[in-house]
Amino acid sequence: MERFSEDKTMVITVFDVQHGFCALVEADNGNALLVDCGHSVKSGFRPSRFLGASGCNRIEGLILTHFDEDHASDLPNLRRRFKIDAFLYNPTIPETHIIKTKQEAGGVGNGTREAISMMTTYANDQSEVSSAMGAEIHLFYNSYPSFQDLNDLSLVTFLHYKDIHIIFPGDLQEAGWKALLRRREFQEELERTKIFVASHHGRANGYCAEVFSYCHPEVVIISDKQIVHETQCIDYGKHASGINCGSDKDPRKVLTTRKDGRIYIYQRPGKQVSIVPYSDSGGLLA
Ligand SMILES: [Zn+2]
Repeated sequence: MERFSEDKTMVITVFDVQHGFCALVEADNGNALLVDCGHSVKSGFRPSRFLGASGCNRIEGLILTHFDEDHASDLPNLRRRFKIDAFLYNPTIPETHIIKTKQEAGGVGNGTREAISMMTTYANDQSEVSSAMGAEIHLFYNSYPSFQDLNDLSLVTFLHYKDIHIIFPGDLQEAGWKALLRRREFQEELERTKIFVASHHGRANGYCAEVFSYCHPEVVIISDKQIVHETQCIDYGKHASGINCGSDKDPRKVLTTRKDGRIYIYQRPGKQVSIVPYSDSGGLLA
């Protein structure tokens, strides 16, 4: 990609895909990594369109946090239009379990079907993605069959680049968090994390209070649609110390795609980490 490479910095963009998830990590060398690939019916945003318009024809890595349609819906288009070098997912889940779970819940979506087909053709090579992105990437997951729920089988990604330390936990639920929290390496990753993407779109069943015995984030990011359920009203702000974002004078503790739209995270040379909502980006990052 050509858009940010002149800045020689990594840019992470969390897109507004309503109740779903899609983040793009653009490395300082121009390489691209997608974390999930949901789309927005409301705005028409699709990562495939966005990347195509950016002059990109290759994606160095795609991390699929889990096999749910709101995280995978644009995958058929991405696969058709781009060369995808690496695909990372929880490798312990049998294809048959995903299909059976989806059929019981009403059917297998096109994005999920595409993801299942990629499981047999990709080697799940994490080191290839780390070196393509020039970032430290650590992955954790619970294993099937100890866990059967696809949310608790989410692939959790920690990404570190300069002073950017971020977690993408997919839709992990309390039981899944608790099992991973027994691992010291997982606790250590949480201790390093400064940007906490809330699990399961910030909803109640993705929340685990114990996580914040280890994790003391500056800011929490929530990707979700408008509030219609009480379960969307978890107070993550009490766990964050706050950071100045864009033109806001007061530090922000929680940013949401529903209120802030697209959210940019980057660090220019010699500067602190910036977190800028789309409305404050002045078109520079649009
Ligand atoms: Zn989801």
